[in-house]
Amino acid sequence: MNVLVNAGPWLAVPPPGYGGIENVVATLVPALRERGVRVVLASVGSSTLEVDELISAYDEGQFPHLQKPYNQVMGIAHAHQARVVAELRARDDLDLVHDHLEVVGPAVLSALAGPPVLHTLHWDLCKHPAFYGAFPQSIAVNGVSESQLARAPAALRDASLGAVHLATPLACQDVRAEPGEHLIVMGRVCRLKGQHVAARICQKLGLPLVLAGPVSGLQTRAELDQVAQDPDHPLHGHPDVRYHLDQVSRYLDGDLVSWIGAVGGQARDDLYASARAALFPIQWDEPGGTAVVEALALGVPPVGLRRGCLPEIIDHGRTGFLADTEEELAEWVLRVGELDPEECRREARRRFSPSVMAERYLELYETVTRR
Ligand code: UDP
Repeated sequence: MNVLVNAGPWLAVPPPGYGGIENVVATLVPALRERGVRVVLASVGSSTLEVDELISAYDEGQFPHLQKPYNQVMGIAHAHQARVVAELRARDDLDLVHDHLEVVGPAVLSALAGPPVLHTLHWDLCKHPAFYGAFPQSIAVNGVSESQLARAPAALRDASLGAVHLATPLACQDVRAEPGEHLIVMGRVCRLKGQHVAARICQKLGLPLVLAGPVSGLQTRAELDQVAQDPDHPLHGHPDVRYHLDQVSRYLDGDLVSWIGAVGGQARDDLYASARAALFPIQWDEPGGTAVVEALALGVPPVGLRRGCLPEIIDHGRTGFLADTEEELAEWVLRVGELDPEECRREARRRFSPSVMAERYLELYETVTRR
């Protein structure tokens, strides 16, 4: 089977640091190729993932532009997608397109007479109600969790081929690190991920907390400070920057709670794997939760609020803890020592390995190409 996997123009695959969807693609593609699928990857030129062919409209990831006003940024996804369309028009050896580009992917591909398309919905489907409420019928879709699909517009939910949970290569790598004392929140710094709640809890309990992740694409304290000091900088009033400055910074005391910016590669794995627990005080219905699956794979018990995909991934009392309130979350944080890291690792190997995800997608590819 020949599949064009469209990862979009935002970040390289695998991403150098933060990158939810690009991490999913980097996990899926090798497992598909091991199963005999030939993969043409549509991404940026700096992608290093081993594939059969790489096509791109941009040399580098366009993520830094993503926070610009819409009229300055809208051409990026379209330029990338125009490159994908040109490729699809120029050849007839592709059996399927597996698309991961939000909205622009299915909107453009639905107008094309080409190979069948499977579009994976990675997002909060309440976000673009007009689009998701009238989703193009010619495009097959799947979600990344049952809870995400449960909140989708009824027609989209009914048309979907179900949910395929996310996976991580860490599930079969047995990464280990010297256990540390810290708790961790690994993810974009933004209100939805709830770093301020984690910081409040840890400060109250006197527990060390590391916050890792970019703020609106800014990777370091120096980059954030520059934006904070320049009222004319396009990111100065960005909600994620304001969130960090107004609601997170007050907890950064240089002692218990620290923000280390974005981390990647081995440094990320070491920091993550040595944590006592990974906190997910999410303030939204998290659709997929790559970082939750990674925590399990590293033997780091996840402790989070009972929302979105978390109850599907975490088995309360066995592989992590789920709470309904901040107070309850704080109580469970104190009990992480009762959880067995090996049980977390086993769960990740069983449910969230690349091969489990690839087998599920192969089933969907068969269904879509047979239609
Ligand atoms: N991540 C990372 N470095 C960071 C912060 C996050 O490598 O500093 C990774 C994290 O390990 C995960 C991804 O970025 O693989 C975030 O994906 P998730 O689905 O958890 O969040 P979202 O896609 O909603 O941002």
